[in-house]
Amino acid sequence: MTATLGEVVAALEARYDPALAESWDAVGLVCGDPADPVERVLVAVDPVAAVVDEAVESGAGLLVTHHPLFLTAVHGVPADDPKGRLVHRLVRAGCGLFVAHTNADRAADVGVNDALAAVLGLTATRPLEPVAPGSRQGLGRVGELAEPTTLAAFAAHAAAVLPATAGGVRAAGDPDRPVRTVAVCGGSGGSLLPAAAAAGADVLLTSDLRHHPVSESQERPGPAVCDVAHFASEWPWVPVAAEVLAADLSGRVAVAASRLRTDPWAVHASPPGGAGSAGRLSG
Ligand SMILES: [Zn+2]
Repeated sequence: MTATLGEVVAALEARYDPALAESWDAVGLVCGDPADPVERVLVAVDPVAAVVDEAVESGAGLLVTHHPLFLTAVHGVPADDPKGRLVHRLVRAGCGLFVAHTNADRAADVGVNDALAAVLGLTATRPLEPVAPGSRQGLGRVGELAEPTTLAAFAAHAAAVLPATAGGVRAAGDPDRPVRTVAVCGGSGGSLLPAAAAAGADVLLTSDLRHHPVSESQERPGPAVCDVAHFASEWPWVPVAAEVLAADLSGRVAVAASRLRTDPWAVHASPPGGAGSAGRLSG
């Protein structure tokens, strides 16, 4: 039992509508022949060399990644360029590459943000920025934890349910602050702080947060902030997308979720005894 690459792409685009992608984004089929048969698909966050190796070595006919290989104009894919080399490796192995990026962020139910909300145990979720009023599609999610907790315990919960990364999980705000309503945004979601505040969130969990917006947010009423690795915030989508694609293709294609950790941060150093929380510098 196989499907054509074109059938697999059609199934993916039915779940992750390319029309939902940002205007600056680059989603869809990067390389691959829609007429080729596909027996195996690998889903991952990043189209990096280790993931391409995993796809080729597993005999995948299609690699599906969240992040684009190319986001800016490309005038050639020579094999002596790091990204061009990946394209050559994929084409030579008969493996296509398909990207579902901001369209997967905005997708309803099986997108990046619903997957992140689900792994954290949020219920009654809705988009922070719906594409239209009442829509299930949109950026970010806000929902409720089953039981109220504290910011420190919520950060520990996030660290326990998300893939482990060198940077770990950190939070800004009173560690004892009660947390029940949680806003999330996979990837770089700092711009959703006002939407999280408007939604009454006790905390916004996202990644790539910068000093000034976080510092300023903690000087006014509004949510605490929980910062996780960008890779960790988007990884929960990988098994969800793999499972839904296999089901949509009625099991005609074997779909695997990559277990490679492609967070580029590899080292985390803390002073002996730890830095502690807010307070005075020692010495
Ligand atoms: Zn991302």
